[in-house]
Amino acid sequence: MSSLSRRSFVTGAVLAAAARPARGLARAAVTPRTRLIVLASGGGPRPRKERGSTAHAVIVDGVLYVVDCGNGVARQLATAGVPLTALRHVLVTHHHSDHNADYGNLLLLAWASGLRTPVDTWGPPPLAKMTRLFFEMNAVDIDIRIADEGRIPLAPLITVHELTGIGPVMQDERVKISATLVDHPPVIPAFAFRFDTPDRSIVFSGDTNRSDNLVRLARGADVLVHEALYVPAVDRLVARVPNAATLKKHIIDSHTSVEDVGRVAAAAGVKTLVISHLVPADDPAVTDRMWIDAARAHFAGEIVVARDGMEL
Ligand SMILES: [Zn+2]
Ligand SMILES: [Zn+2]
Repeated sequence: MSSLSRRSFVTGAVLAAAARPARGLARAAVTPRTRLIVLASGGGPRPRKERGSTAHAVIVDGVLYVVDCGNGVARQLATAGVPLTALRHVLVTHHHSDHNADYGNLLLLAWASGLRTPVDTWGPPPLAKMTRLFFEMNAVDIDIRIADEGRIPLAPLITVHELTGIGPVMQDERVKISATLVDHPPVIPAFAFRFDTPDRSIVFSGDTNRSDNLVRLARGADVLVHEALYVPAVDRLVARVPNAATLKKHIIDSHTSVEDVGRVAAAAGVKTLVISHLVPADDPAVTDRMWIDAARAHFAGEIVVARDGMEL
């Protein structure tokens, strides 16, 4: 059973959500073992005032799993009050910069914050090469801090696992993580991940167009965090850039309209849909109410529009 203990900055989205089952008093008083924090809820790599580029955190019994590393992920963790030294696993869904720009920085800055324990990283090739080159690029700083500050070497702490297929990713005493392939042309492979913990199941869509694989992975999950596209606003979005036609085609072909996100959530039978990785990420004309209404037409469960810093 999931126990949502939301500490949200965004009352609008919460008020607009469907009625959820009342929590028992006993459960409400207990801190859930599994916490989900939206670190950054925007799609696309362009830095913005609102909504950073995609990153989410799952924390189980105080142990930190990060899914995607958009720019600013380490800072977003600090802002959320999550110690970087709690980092244990990093998962990257695919190699677009709104998901991996700060992959290396997260490792470096966690280490600079005092990390002395192993971290496993998971994602598509060439994750091993990217990690090696990142350490090489930052060797001056890393070597100085080892010599000057007595830090232990960083590279031996990190174990990289390149993912190429679907199925189980890893399992430890707290969580079982599994993956499926989603459809995000032309990026191959692109993954969605499912976390099953003692008290919750949480699925991250990654970037995808409407995906039957994702429906299967998310079957019966407590929470589905799904990317979403508000199609009528795409023209306004691409009007700002010189490569408008190409960008619009990529966006439509490789992402999921919020209406289809509602259909996917319904087909998978999830309890709560969290709409995140919003595209557009910062169009004031697209309100939380509009995101919710578009998904609501196809999904009767709880719907939450993600905000940076929101905990569910
Ligand atoms: Zn993306
Ligand atoms: Zn992408």
